[in-house]
Amino acid sequence: MFGGEVGIHTRLKAKNTIVEMDGDEMTRVIWALVKSELLEPFVDLKLERYDLHVLSRDRTDDAITVQAAEAIRKHGVGVKCATITPDAARVDEYKLKKAWASPNATIRALLDGTVFRKPLLVHNVPPTVRSWVKPIVIGRHAYGDIYKSAEMRIPAPGRVDLVYTPAGGGAPQSLVVHEFKSPGIVRGVHNIESSIRSFARACISYALSERTDMWFSAKDTIAKIYHGTFREIFRQETEARRADFQRAGIEYIYMLIDDAVAKVVRSPGGFLWACMNYDGDVMSDMVASGFGSLGLMTSVLVSPDGFYEFEAAHGTVTRHFRKHERGEATSTNSTATIFAWTGAIAKRGELDGTPEITQFARALEAAVIETIESGTMTKDLAGIADPAPAGHVSTQGFIEAVAERLRTKLEARPHMPAVAPR
Ligand code: NAP
Ligand code: MG
Repeated sequence: MFGGEVGIHTRLKAKNTIVEMDGDEMTRVIWALVKSELLEPFVDLKLERYDLHVLSRDRTDDAITVQAAEAIRKHGVGVKCATITPDAARVDEYKLKKAWASPNATIRALLDGTVFRKPLLVHNVPPTVRSWVKPIVIGRHAYGDIYKSAEMRIPAPGRVDLVYTPAGGGAPQSLVVHEFKSPGIVRGVHNIESSIRSFARACISYALSERTDMWFSAKDTIAKIYHGTFREIFRQETEARRADFQRAGIEYIYMLIDDAVAKVVRSPGGFLWACMNYDGDVMSDMVASGFGSLGLMTSVLVSPDGFYEFEAAHGTVTRHFRKHERGEATSTNSTATIFAWTGAIAKRGELDGTPEITQFARALEAAVIETIESGTMTKDLAGIADPAPAGHVSTQGFIEAVAERLRTKLEARPHMPAVAPR
């Protein structure tokens, strides 16, 4: 499809590079279709491609993942396909050298980011939680807490201390954690002030740019130092941007986590909920299923240095891939993957000062939403849509329907010279 399209039907041309990270299984199948049907015919993107297929990671001893993260640091914008995080069964299945780390964790660690998860709302897929009429965005701190902890099994009675030894010498500080009278367990967790501060700042930037209220919740009544530090840093950072919040007409609210959970399910939505790492892990799945389907949940990693990595929130949809491998028809929802691409393309256009590129991304997003709202949808949505559609379309059928609608949309816009000949 590339090249050969001249005359009035010239493709849009992007100015700068997007880092493309291909992945595994069903999402890899979708990835190729999205590129060939929805992007290449319309827009000439500058892509720097990293293949994060599990075998490519294995072949390069996972260096490819680190290179991809470095490329995002260089170019500023990346889009990632879902990837397998290998466990023992996958090591066996793909004959891997070892169970490589989660690519998402590797990339997050290198970009020190905050992950924002946002559900897409379509009129004919009512949220399971009836009060939700606007999106609830989860901003998840992606560093520390239980994800970087030290655990120990305590086999028999004895004392556990928490000890801090200053690097530059000086007296150590210690605290009794517990005097065990019988066997038990213990865990040490940590976080870093600078990381908490960049988490707060990333959430504030997001809330301001989306003009959405911002909540932060923790349990500082119990964890006075640990959670209390998060609360205090959020207070300082929001206080410093108070004028910007006022100008944007948005509010910052702190709540205890249990209070927040109770309020969320009774709220109409329409806010960013900043969550500590574990809360964000749990609450983003709750919010995704509360809104309807994982196939409608988008995800972006925003780093404090201004780098962006877009992805779908779901995994590689292995169950559907098994059917695909057997040559059976699949009906996998490509919406979140398409929105990962449009997020990256729109951001590229914004950073490059090329509004026509951003407009193309918005037109593609509108084509996806309108396709679903017109009743053409994959099986995951067909089961919960109201009114129920006559049937559902295949993975490819959905993408083709979006392409058709996009073409019509772009043809109707003479100022967008993005329509390639059929
Ligand atoms: P998953 O791929 O998210 O799929 C779980 C189930 O959710 C699917 O079986 C399907 O349900 C439904 N689903 C998810 N996405 C869908 C879509 N786009 N359209 C329709 N239905 C969808 O999670 P998983 O099966 O637990 O994990 C599979 C692999 O993905 C694992 O190897 C894991 O490591 C990896 N993973 C990667 C990422 C990432 O790269 N960001 C995230 C999570 C998991 P039905 O079967 O009921 O149709
Ligand atoms: Mg989770």
